[in-house]
Amino acid sequence: MTKSEQLFERAVKIIPGGVNSPVRAYRSVGGTPRFIERADGAYIWDADGNRYTDYIGSWGPMLLGHNHPEIREAVCKAAEKGLSFGAATEAEVEMAELICSLVPSVEMVRMVNSGTEAVMSAIRAARGYTGREKVIKFEGCYHGHCDAMLVKAGSGVMTAGIPDSAGVPGGCAQDTLTAVYNDLSSAERLFEENPGKVAALIVEPVAANMGVVLPQEGFLKGLRALCTKYGAVLIFDEVITGFRLGIDGAQGLYGVAADLTTFGKIIGAGMPVGAYGGKREIMECVAPVGPVYQAGTLSGNPVAMAAGITQLRILRDHPEVYDKISRLGDLFRQGMEQVLKESGAEVRVTGTGSLACVFFTGEPVKDYASAKKSDTGRFGKYFHYLLGHGIHAAPSQFEAVFFSNAHKEEDISAFLGAAKAFLK
Ligand SMILES: *Cc1c(COP(=O)(O)O)cnc(C)c1O
Repeated sequence: MTKSEQLFERAVKIIPGGVNSPVRAYRSVGGTPRFIERADGAYIWDADGNRYTDYIGSWGPMLLGHNHPEIREAVCKAAEKGLSFGAATEAEVEMAELICSLVPSVEMVRMVNSGTEAVMSAIRAARGYTGREKVIKFEGCYHGHCDAMLVKAGSGVMTAGIPDSAGVPGGCAQDTLTAVYNDLSSAERLFEENPGKVAALIVEPVAANMGVVLPQEGFLKGLRALCTKYGAVLIFDEVITGFRLGIDGAQGLYGVAADLTTFGKIIGAGMPVGAYGGKREIMECVAPVGPVYQAGTLSGNPVAMAAGITQLRILRDHPEVYDKISRLGDLFRQGMEQVLKESGAEVRVTGTGSLACVFFTGEPVKDYASAKKSDTGRFGKYFHYLLGHGIHAAPSQFEAVFFSNAHKEEDISAFLGAAKAFLK
């Protein structure tokens, strides 16, 4: 038995499924999850000492690679001064100034501890601001695990084949309306059917939790126009795309300003951090200024802020990072297109910048329904083939391949070589 297998055997007895987040389980691909001991740069080592090139990057935060020396040093220095004070600190002001200076649509921001919390709080702020209750989301978009968002959610919910979650009261879900990604008219219909009732529309500007699905031309601009027309708050969930698709996120890339934006993952550089922010008028509804209550004992934690601030400053001061990771993404997507052409496999490759996805379907993927057509059994075999060849990718068809600044062109070539051998 390997060490991972032994650990898993112990884990399943006292942790549901042996994991603290379902996306880490290998249920959809079979086998035993690898227990990780350490990571550095582009590599990750499991408890048995096997080394893999890592394409999960902690599901997004490790944009600069694992164990970045400057970030590690900032964390250690902050830890020496105390782990938490439960009082205001300079680091929180710096973090807020940094986010507001980098993302033009964000005029005020509040720190929280996860992406889930950021989304939950942004929706509450939007409801408080508008005095309305309904929220539109899109099928296959994942916005964390708060009750109202576990309707037609992507990521782990999609992988596990759970249509909705048990334990979500009907009352929580009844105010969540679902539209079809890349289908403007489906959103417009919901606005028309619920006049004066829609508080917010939330969307992943690039959907990265049903695999990676790009917004078609005009989709995001159309959503912007609909929200303006119907007086609803446009929330971009940039928990994955924020500071990844560019220093100003997907909204910078596509030139569409959100009213509120949620962040997570990259802004914590691996520490548990989330944030939501946007228009001053909306953010001033949040307590203690306004009537929308939202709080957090560890929010803006000094050690977490030190990690996040250091990563964001590096990204701000080194725009070439974005050129590099996009080049790696292009190399991967173009190389994969070539592999697919040669093999004649019923497979598609999607993505933009440092996000990619290999879908085991012959049809173009533009929404949840088309993503769901993928052959997940075949994906499972592909996943294990990669793992056997030292490539650590997400154990699910419906997650992204994440590239970081620590990856090299040779890593991409090795990945493509393994994919080619598998598809032959
Ligand atoms: C990961 C993710 C979340 C949830 O963030 P957590 O930190 O896991 O709670 C929300 N939205 C999107 C788009 C995500 O990718």
